Amino acid sequence: MTGGSEGAQERPVDWGDVRRCFPILDQEVSGRPLVYLDNAATTQVPECVVGAIAEHYRRDNANVHRSTHTLSARSTASLEQARATVRRFINAESAEEVVFTRGTTESVNLVAAGLAAWHGAGFSAVASALEHHSNFVPWQQQALRAGGSFAVAPLTEGGDLDEVALVSLLESRPRGIVALALVSNVLGTVSPVARLTQLAHERGWLVLVDAAQGMRHGTVDVQAMGCDFLCFSGHKMLGPTGIGVLYGRRGLLDELPPTAFGGEMVEEVSGERSLFERAPLRHEAGTPNYVGALALAAAIDFLEGVGREAVAERERRLLMRLEEGLRALGRVRVLGAPRRREGVISFTVENAHPLDVAVLMDKRGVAVRAGRQCAQPLLTEAYAVDRVVRMSPAFYNTFEEIDVALDCLERTMALLG
Ligand code: PLP
Repeated sequence: MTGGSEGAQERPVDWGDVRRCFPILDQEVSGRPLVYLDNAATTQVPECVVGAIAEHYRRDNANVHRSTHTLSARSTASLEQARATVRRFINAESAEEVVFTRGTTESVNLVAAGLAAWHGAGFSAVASALEHHSNFVPWQQQALRAGGSFAVAPLTEGGDLDEVALVSLLESRPRGIVALALVSNVLGTVSPVARLTQLAHERGWLVLVDAAQGMRHGTVDVQAMGCDFLCFSGHKMLGPTGIGVLYGRRGLLDELPPTAFGGEMVEEVSGERSLFERAPLRHEAGTPNYVGALALAAAIDFLEGVGREAVAERERRLLMRLEEGLRALGRVRVLGAPRRREGVISFTVENAHPLDVAVLMDKRGVAVRAGRQCAQPLLTEAYAVDRVVRMSPAFYNTFEEIDVALDCLERTMALLG
């Protein structure tokens, strides 16, 4: 594969070569070439990542942090190397700030449950109306259980977070944590999280950023953002399922009460009490998904090999072509017009059910998602729709595929009357 690393004098990327690293894309569905436009749900995995997983099981597999033998040492070294790779990728200050989880959902739950255990009835959370259920329901439920408070920050008409309303919420409620998506999984809104974090910090609030949809579309730098926590999932950035990350500022992670208990997260155990390890181990009870972690590191290496800026730029251009095409079709209502949109676009079609649209498109080989997108408050309260169709290109898609998908949508609309 061609293409230089970020910041270096870059050769143009050969996108045909890049695409060939994803053999799954080279198949027919319903007798037509597959056009995979559901990357916001899960991205495809390049051969080198599949190879890294297989290689580990063939050569190095053993449990980590437990035994003294050679294979265990190799496995442990791979896990800690992966932690170092993630640290560099998000520019965390230290590798101890990187906790491996099963994914964004588990990362958010870990923080929400930990804060609720810590603050009890003093637990206070605000989530934006843009949030995926994974960054909404945990805060709501922990507030209900702890007898704390939970509120939702509204949006502007275009689908950006209403900053004035957010500030007034923060100033009128007990201090706690603000939960914000870096990129909305429905509208594609990119929120200015560095500025919002500053606004929140000035008022004594912590900030958790859900970056599940934001990891491919440019550099994510936790120090520049200034956030306290950041969560993401491997399977939305070319890695496997079942692995994700919770970044947390070191001091905070060391204080946050653990929410899962078991092996390797304890320093000392007696019949009466247990003394917990410091971060990250205190939040990684049991055998971690070390193979997932090393595969995530391989996915990061791959992304950096293509070039993060090149990837982001191509995804922007693919999305722009898609948005223009959608807007040119009559009877399509594109949701939102945020100041900056990346990754995804959602829409409804006049007189057609989104699920029918998706099923018929699949019959012509085009994979899109239809439904509530795990963001019911956003859809129903902000846009008064129940379900939408969502398309989400990734850098390995082609411009021709966007045209095929638009043509397929037009034919589907004609079929549905
Ligand atoms: N947050 C956002 C913005 C998402 O798009 C998703 C998944 O679609 C999640 C959180 C949940 O991610 P996971 O299911 O990997 O935990």
